Amino acid sequence: MSSQSMISLVIPVYNEEENVNKLMERIRSVMQIIGRPYEIILVDDGSKDNSLSLLKSFTVYPEVKVIELVRNYGQHAAIFAGFSLVRGDIIVTLDADLQNPPEEIPKLVKVMEAGYYDVVGTIRKSRKDSLFRILPSKLINIVTRRITKVRMSDWGCMLRAYRRPVVERMIACHEHATFIPALATYFGKRVTEIEVAHEERYGGITSYPLRKLINLHFDLVSSFSDLPMKFLMYGGIWMALGGVCFGVFLAAARLVYGALWAAQGVFTLFAILFVLVGLQFFAFGIVGEYIGRIYREVRKRPEYVIEKVHSLGDSEKSQ
Ligand code: UDP
Ligand code: MG
Repeated sequence: MSSQSMISLVIPVYNEEENVNKLMERIRSVMQIIGRPYEIILVDDGSKDNSLSLLKSFTVYPEVKVIELVRNYGQHAAIFAGFSLVRGDIIVTLDADLQNPPEEIPKLVKVMEAGYYDVVGTIRKSRKDSLFRILPSKLINIVTRRITKVRMSDWGCMLRAYRRPVVERMIACHEHATFIPALATYFGKRVTEIEVAHEERYGGITSYPLRKLINLHFDLVSSFSDLPMKFLMYGGIWMALGGVCFGVFLAAARLVYGALWAAQGVFTLFAILFVLVGLQFFAFGIVGEYIGRIYREVRKRPEYVIEKVHSLGDSEKSQ
């Protein structure tokens, strides 16, 4: 890889009006230090605040492109929209809230420019998030390691670098519900990770309430494995076996202790029935979740729709 590889930064933005100015200031000074040709692709993911007009004001710089999406499609879909326009050899994604310090970008570029790795992930040193975010993350990291069979330790940090062909392969597979760091390991042969700093959100609040977080993680698990189905299957088998054993036990006890004893067991059976019915509903829920996702894939609705691409040319025209 030549030392003059072009770098594309892809940044999803959703209601980040308090952060974008600071973000751009820090990115631009870092990129000047790196001294490579670069572009910044800012994807407005249907922000309801002033983010879009702030972003558009940056299109006076030729290296900045702003993608305006029609509505809010979610962080990963927004990054995909950004991927569709990248021209660089090395693509770096990061969050707009400055939790991923732009000053860490040179580290990623350095590893990429050494020429060996296709994907560089990151591990957040002393993560600045609430326990409510860190604990599920730990669990999901273990699950993701199992389902992707790739030994990365921090899947949630979006400050990551990809070589261009990896991004092209990801775009070509047209996945809907997806999780980019996991998908990238399917298309990048040589994968590594480095430690990076993590900061508090600069301004505003997280756009991931519990509901969105669960949904994202279900996307991850369901699009990369049939783990929940397996749980269902094995759980079902064990439950059925347990039921048979229990039936045999009840029959035997009835023979030994007589009818009176058995009648007293009726309520126990009711309790067991309720547990089983509950589990069954849970199982149906999981099946329903898969069917819902199949339905969405079958409809072939685009994952995102670009309203307009803003760049230097058109801001001149509108003046
Ligand atoms: N984001 C987005 N669309 C969404 C939610 C989030 O583009 O629907 C962006 C957001 O602007 C930020 C990044 O994704 O740049 C991470 O979001 P956030 O900081 O809210 O998540 P957290 O850091 O709490 O995981
Ligand atoms: Mg954040």
